[in-house]
Amino acid sequence: MPDHPVNLIENEVLLRFWGVRGSIPTPGPETAHYGGNTSCIELRLGNEVLILDAGSGIRRLGLQLASDLMKQPLRTTLLISHTHWDHIQGLPFFRPAYDRASQIRILGAPGTRERLRTALVRQMDPIQFPVTLESLAGIRGIDEFAEPTITIGSFTVRTIELNHPGGCTGFRITAAGKSVAYLPDHESYRSAVHSLRTKVARVASAAEEELVQFLQGCEVLILDTQYDRIEYPSHIGWGHGCLDDSVALALRAQVEQLVLFHHDPNHDDTRIDAMVTEARRQVTEAGAILRVRAARELERLVPATRAKCLAA
Ligand SMILES: [Zn+2]
Ligand SMILES: [Zn+2]
Repeated sequence: MPDHPVNLIENEVLLRFWGVRGSIPTPGPETAHYGGNTSCIELRLGNEVLILDAGSGIRRLGLQLASDLMKQPLRTTLLISHTHWDHIQGLPFFRPAYDRASQIRILGAPGTRERLRTALVRQMDPIQFPVTLESLAGIRGIDEFAEPTITIGSFTVRTIELNHPGGCTGFRITAAGKSVAYLPDHESYRSAVHSLRTKVARVASAAEEELVQFLQGCEVLILDTQYDRIEYPSHIGWGHGCLDDSVALALRAQVEQLVLFHHDPNHDDTRIDAMVTEARRQVTEAGAILRVRAARELERLVPATRAKCLAA
């Protein structure tokens, strides 16, 4: 059920996780702590709301927004990283989208408008779902970034292409002097960097350097960390991250806080706890300073130099 509206400190960004799981929702007692909904994150600054992805977590966000707004229409932009179903499957259940008074703009990466529209229409085709996309009267447009960096109200959003089959866009969102990077589905370039094919290795190295620069100095990095070092070798090429690579990337980019994200559907709460412990061990072993946590549904973060975690 919706809880009480968040007390917002003026000019402070608030981040809230509504879906943290990869691939498929995983409800059940063994995932109750971190949560079983697929990707959805809310960013707020004052009255402005920015939403990242529309996995199953967006359903509950919709109920919360309806409660917070107290019958005021919702104005928001929904950024879609890519159209794999775990990042769009919640949209048909996002209540404000059915409200004709809402003004919801959906944005994808440069050059993806038609692909995005097609995916959203198809998942609500009568063969798949009883209600069509046109019923979502609050959606006022499906568009793409006109440029790699755009401004949405008080938020500046930069994009970067990630390493993921079919493509995925990472976002770096800056507001009130703080930056949050969201890389929901990404496999490290590591194996390609070590390729014996010189051209492949060169391209991968350049992409890795570009990514490190893109992330440099972020307060919060939310990063695909689906596998540990035991699981990863049998999933190379699936487009998802390995714990060791996540820690290495966060250290190279000198981010303040690493948030493990896109939890594997087969990882229960105990397993995710163990991954956080291992990540922290690797940071200590490196003699570095980096805060590490795993994304947890309903948890709130205030991106800051010493990122604060509010009670869930
Ligand atoms: Zn995904
Ligand atoms: Zn994906």
